[in-house]
Amino acid sequence: MTPLVLHNTLTRAKEEFAPADGHHVKMYCCGPTVYNYAHIGNLRTYVFEDILHRALKWHGWGLTHVMNITDVGHMTSDADAGEDKMAKAAARENRSPWEIARFYEDAFFRDCARLNIIRPDVAPRATEHVPQMIALIQRLEREGFTYRTAEGIYFDTAKDADYGKLAGLNLGAQKEGAREDVNTDPGKRHPADFILWFTNKPTHIMQWESPWGTGYPGWHIECSAMSMEYLGETLDIHGGGIDHIPVHNTNEIAQSECATGHIFARFWVHGAFLTLASGAVTGRTAAGKMSKSAENFLTVQKLIDDSFDPLAYRYLCLTAHYRSELAFSYDSLGGATKALGKIYELRARVGESGDGLSDAEYAALRHAIGEAINDDLNIPKAVGILHQANSYRLWREFDPILGLDIEARSRAELPAPGTEALPAEVAALARQRDAARQARDYARSDALRAQIEDMGYTVGDSPAGTVVKKKLL
Ligand code: AMP
Ligand code: ZN
Repeated sequence: MTPLVLHNTLTRAKEEFAPADGHHVKMYCCGPTVYNYAHIGNLRTYVFEDILHRALKWHGWGLTHVMNITDVGHMTSDADAGEDKMAKAAARENRSPWEIARFYEDAFFRDCARLNIIRPDVAPRATEHVPQMIALIQRLEREGFTYRTAEGIYFDTAKDADYGKLAGLNLGAQKEGAREDVNTDPGKRHPADFILWFTNKPTHIMQWESPWGTGYPGWHIECSAMSMEYLGETLDIHGGGIDHIPVHNTNEIAQSECATGHIFARFWVHGAFLTLASGAVTGRTAAGKMSKSAENFLTVQKLIDDSFDPLAYRYLCLTAHYRSELAFSYDSLGGATKALGKIYELRARVGESGDGLSDAEYAALRHAIGEAINDDLNIPKAVGILHQANSYRLWREFDPILGLDIEARSRAELPAPGTEALPAEVAALARQRDAARQARDYARSDALRAQIEDMGYTVGDSPAGTVVKKKLL
């Protein structure tokens, strides 16, 4: 197989990837801040990370994929000012921040399941790792990288000669206030400095004891502390959306590398944004970047309510390269629906192997598709070749990477959402269980069985896959 090449934001170049130990990939991706539903823009980033997850497994490597759940400390401004997003949502919905966090975390994983996003191996919550964050801040303090103000403990970017290397930032040239700095703390020495621990938020509901007084952690420290907890001090891959490059990921690197003295992540991969094409969602949203704070966002549930198959959205994501912007519109989702329908009909039209391809032609196409995937996950190219080949066998062969449930949906074992008697959520879990069994991931298939059973269904196996029936009481 050709080697896997990934674009590394750190070196601004495509590089051959292999895990440092040759066998097992340690991957960390920034997870959701659980203060609202994920919008389909956020989910584009998780679909991209899911494709990467699947491609790594396809290469035969072991993988531990960790994704944090941010349930404290993410302020409404990147400059540590404004309100904590969790506290703001709690006030808005008249619930405790803890209730908000659990509710939207569940909603997030439900949406991911509907999009066939494989659940990361570990999804640690920030609120359950505060001691690890305190220990890391103490380590930075001992090494002389912090200072204290009335607001909290800051990371001192002037002490880090490498600060900004991910984004190519030049602090010397960065004038005071050049970056939107709405943090008015007079003790803050440089606009790029950031809070590790807040100590002056007496009304904040989520508070912990610390060596610096009662308070709560900053957002950036959680990713450094939790990735180290589960994956050690050097990651093979760190993923996220491009918006995180200049501040959040930059600060993760600064904290981690200053504390440990060695490289935090060998490869940094970043997904480009989903945008709204003008007129995409008539009368509902303005064109431009989809963002939660602007409250102009579309959810997976909204797509389902509008009679779209969530996998059509997943398919749409596969039609753009992950480093290119993708403009969303209902028209493009309609096009994706049609294209996906054609793939699902292929088996009925040409049969299991009636694609007319000789062994040599099949092997050549297989190779070309593999090369496209290995070329920085050029999935649009792979999908293009698959469409041209018009071969059910090939689609099925590459579905463990695409995650479109080709086999089950082609056999009409899993009807499209909306037409089944089963709730969409249960059907999605059954689809995931089929995929897990196909990948011989029996631990996961057992976990999914337990999850489906807990929801009041029996789970059986047939040659055609998972058979789910409502439990008779
Ligand atoms: P958040 O919950 O705001 O921390 O964002 C979760 C993830 O979604 C992060 O990796 C962001 O980079 C990513 N993200 C935010 N907005 C978009 C968008 N419009 N398109 C793609 N990814 C996004
Ligand atoms: Zn992060």
